[in-house]
Amino acid sequence: MSGVLCTLVIAELAQGRPSKLTCELLGLARNLAGTTGGAVAAALLASHTDGIASELIAHGADRVYAIEHPMFGSYHSESWVGAAAQICKDAAPGAVLIGHTVSGADLAPRLAFRLGTAVAMGCEGVSFVADKLAFTRPCFGGNARQTVSFKTAPAVATVRAGCYDAPAPDRERRGEVTPLEQPLGEEALRVKVIERRRDADDGARLEEAAIVVAGGRGLNGPEGFRLLERLAATLGAAVGASRVPCDLGWCPRSWQIGLTGRTVQPDLYIAVGISGAGHHMAGCGGAKAIVAVNTDREAAIFKDARFGVVGDYRQFVPALIEEVRKLLGD
Ligand SMILES: Cc1cc2nc3c(=O)[nH]c(=O)nc-3n(C[C@H](O)[C@H](O)[C@H](O)COP(=O)(O)OP(=O)(O)OC[C@H]3O[C@@H](n4cnc5c(N)ncnc54)[C@H](O)[C@@H]3O)c2cc1C
Repeated sequence: MSGVLCTLVIAELAQGRPSKLTCELLGLARNLAGTTGGAVAAALLASHTDGIASELIAHGADRVYAIEHPMFGSYHSESWVGAAAQICKDAAPGAVLIGHTVSGADLAPRLAFRLGTAVAMGCEGVSFVADKLAFTRPCFGGNARQTVSFKTAPAVATVRAGCYDAPAPDRERRGEVTPLEQPLGEEALRVKVIERRRDADDGARLEEAAIVVAGGRGLNGPEGFRLLERLAATLGAAVGASRVPCDLGWCPRSWQIGLTGRTVQPDLYIAVGISGAGHHMAGCGGAKAIVAVNTDREAAIFKDARFGVVGDYRQFVPALIEEVRKLLGD
């Protein structure tokens, strides 16, 4: 497996299984392999790899490079970059695809630097243009798209969640697993993580959620989020936010959706008290349907919304919760 034809996906795990985004990237890599006749490899860095390699193969990997080490129980820049660079040496990929998550966005530029190549961050599309891999990403605050290709190899890119469908797993698929040693001993790491603290709700479900309820400055305070949490619980949704409430400490930073936050592409996105700035829409514009609740009928979000409610969320949201509960027979 070598040269431009191999696409390497760096796997991320969610609850000990390949994340939805990782499966989407494997689907994308398979599409690219279909065009070039190339292969798909996955890098698996985990404290326990049991059963995960076969999941990656079922989702499209031909070969899994697996490094099992307690160090990979959670993300750590140095050890992940070292291990990913080692795998790239073995796999010699033409492209390295990484999820555009908090850790993926940390890893990709470091890995590109280590490999002496460039990086395209936050891509929404990867295709072939004139026989060259081309990466499309938002620019100018999400108001325009640019398509870039690489003069150096491999092409390292982070890809946003929800841009590609994850193929249904094929449990009959066969692939190879190449176990590798962790290249860096703990003593070689220059940064030691002393403590990790998770937000009570760190928004981990956001990218995976079919319904997202997001609040903005229009909530006027943290108590507005308690109401959105009730709506989310009724709908089985995840809660997100625009940047302003995160900056103001009304909700965890990890809830931020947008250009400098997370990217979600749920079936339904309910934006409450959010004006619809380009920076925000860059993270949710791909939702199948947007419902906007806003007191200002001129708010930009109504241009993107399939359904709009002009009104005060404090009246509308409780009424919506009541109606949904009635429909659900609660
Ligand atoms: C480099 C850069 C990166 C950025 N990245 C991001 C990002 O990742 N994500 C992000 O969100 N922003 C980001 N921003 C900020 C972005 O430009 C906007 O400032 C921000 O999205 C606005 O947040 P908002 O819609 O909550 O607030 P506002 O624009 O103030 O909108 C609040 C809305 O609430 C409505 N409202 C008020 N009261 C009520 C009520 N009672 N009921 C219903 N509606 C009500 C108002 O009519 C208004 O439309 C970024 C900015 C920069 C410069």
